[in-house]
Amino acid sequence: MTTTADVVIIGGGIMGASTAYHLAARGCRNVVVLESGEMFGLGSTGLNAGGVRHQFSTPVNIELSKLSIGMMERFADDMGQEVALRRCGYLFLLDSDDDVGRFRANVALQNHHGVPSELLAPADIARRVPEVDLAGIVGGTWCARDGLVDPNGLLQGYITQARRLGATLHTRAAATAIDRTDGGAYTVTTPIGDFTAPAVVIAAGPWSAQVGALAGIDVPIQPIRRQIAVTNPMPQLRPDFPFVIDFSRALYFHREGAGLLTGMSNRNEPPGFNTNVDENWRVTHLENAVARLPMLADADLLAEWAGLYEVTPDDQPILGRLPHADGLFICAGFSGHGLMHGPAAGLLMAEEILDGCAHTIDIDPLRWGRFAAGAVTAELNVV
Ligand SMILES: Cc1cc2nc3c(=O)[nH]c(=O)nc-3n(C[C@H](O)[C@H](O)[C@H](O)COP(=O)(O)OP(=O)(O)OC[C@H]3O[C@@H](n4cnc5c(N)ncnc54)[C@H](O)[C@@H]3O)c2cc1C
Repeated sequence: MTTTADVVIIGGGIMGASTAYHLAARGCRNVVVLESGEMFGLGSTGLNAGGVRHQFSTPVNIELSKLSIGMMERFADDMGQEVALRRCGYLFLLDSDDDVGRFRANVALQNHHGVPSELLAPADIARRVPEVDLAGIVGGTWCARDGLVDPNGLLQGYITQARRLGATLHTRAAATAIDRTDGGAYTVTTPIGDFTAPAVVIAAGPWSAQVGALAGIDVPIQPIRRQIAVTNPMPQLRPDFPFVIDFSRALYFHREGAGLLTGMSNRNEPPGFNTNVDENWRVTHLENAVARLPMLADADLLAEWAGLYEVTPDDQPILGRLPHADGLFICAGFSGHGLMHGPAAGLLMAEEILDGCAHTIDIDPLRWGRFAAGAVTAELNVV
C-alpha cells in the first residue's frame, strides 16, 4: 500500500513532532511522521536531563533558545499541555582563567541578545550555592531565566496537536529505503507500507546518518553515549537549588522531583549505539559529583540510564534543505541541546518547507553548506 503525503518526516522525537505540528498549524495537514520505535520519544527525547538555557556561545543558539523558551512559556495556553517550565537558573562553574575569559565574552554576547546572564566571582557563587564545594573554582556565570522543562510534556503536546490538526503519526514504522520517483518525489519504504511525498525531512536524531544513507547522503552526525543518575528524595536539597554545571569536568546536577539528577560526559566516549550504563564511568562520575556536592554522599541511587547525543563536527545542528536533491530536508544534530531547541526548530523547518526559507531566525550558520564552505563556528558551551 502506498500513502501519498505532502511531507514525510522520519523520526518521532521532539524534532519530528515539532516540525509536524508547525507544518499542520500552518495549514499543511497531509503530513506523515514515521517513527521506528514502539512509542514516540524512546530516542534522545525521552532520555535527557530536561535543561533549558540561554547560555550559549553562538548568536544562532542564543536566538534558538529565546524563541523556544518563549514558546515553552506559552505552551500550556497554546497547546493545552503543561510542560512544567521551572526557572531555577543555570550556574556554570569555571576553574581556569581561560574559561572565565571565554565565558566573559559569551555573557557579553548573550547580554547583546537581551539575555540577562552575568559573570560571578567565587564569593558570589558561594552565596548562591553554599552546598557546593567550590575548590578550584575561579569564576562562574549565572542566568536566572534558564531552568528545566518536562521533555515528555513538550513531545506529547506536539504529537496531540499535530494529530488534532490532521497530521498522521505512525509508530513501528522504520524507514528502510528512500527512493526518488520518476516524478521527482520520494518514496519512503517502511514495514507498514510505502509513503510518497515531494518533501522528506530527516529528523532521526542520533540515527540521522543511517537515515541519510538511505538517500545516499553522508550525514556528519555521530551517536555518543551520555549517562545520567537520579537519587531518591534528598530532604536537605532546597526546592530552588539551581542547575549547576562544572564546565571543565562536564559534570552537572539539578533537582529532579524531590531528589537530584546528575550527569557527567565522558569526553573519550567513542561513537556508537551502545546505551548500557558504563559501570566504570559511573564510578568516575559519582566520585566527581560527591566531591562537588558533598551531601550526595548520603543519597541512594533511584535510577540510571544512558542515551545518545547526536553530535556534529561543530556541536551545532544541521537545519534546512539539503543541497543534494530538491525536496530533502534535515533537522538533526543538536549535539546534546536539542530538547530546548525543538520548539524553535520545528517552526523554522515549517517555514523552510512552506515559504522556501526559514525567516523567524536566520539559519544560514546551521545549513549543510557551512562544512564545505569552511564557515564553521563551533558552539563552546557544550556539556
Ligand atoms: C543523557 C542526555 C542528556 C541530555 N540533556 C539535555 C538537556 O538537558 N537539554 C536539552 O535541550 N537536550 C538534552 N539532550 C539532547 C536532547 O535529548 C536531544 O538533542 C533531542 O532529544 C534530539 O531530538 P531528536 O528528535 O533529534 O532525536 P530523538 O529524540 O532521538 O528522535 C529521533 C527518532 O528517530 C527514530 N528513528 C531512528 N531511525 C529511524 C528510522 N529509520 N525510521 C523512523 N524513525 C527512526 C528514533 O527511534 C527516535 O525516536 C540530552 C541528551 C542525552 C542523551
